Amino acid sequence: MQNHFIIEMLGIKGTNVDVWEIREESGSFVIELFTNVRKQKCPSCKKGTKRVHSYRNQAIQGPIVSNRRVQISLRKRRYLCIECHCTFYERLQMVDHYQRCTSALQTTALTYSAIVSLLQRID
Ligand SMILES: [Zn+2]
Repeated sequence: MQNHFIIEMLGIKGTNVDVWEIREESGSFVIELFTNVRKQKCPSCKKGTKRVHSYRNQAIQGPIVSNRRVQISLRKRRYLCIECHCTFYERLQMVDHYQRCTSALQTTALTYSAIVSLLQRID
């Protein structure tokens, strides 16, 4: 519930995204996000697949909250098509959307307190 709140506060729209970990790293907040496995459509043969091939972390520049940088690390999943054996990254429209809209992000004291309370809960 609170994780969902964080994601919303960060301006990320995506029901398929969840918080893996939040930590402090040299004065910045690092928020690791991950996506849930979902059936994907192969871009070349259009068949469906849920077979995971590999992962890659994508760094996304987050907002600055109360003078502290928020770094978002998104664990992207690469899928393997079992029909034609091609591999492809899952489509994450929320990331494109996020990167386009960063300037319009509302970074509020609310975001800050939400992150801090999550950190406290984890400790
Ligand atoms: Zn395919």
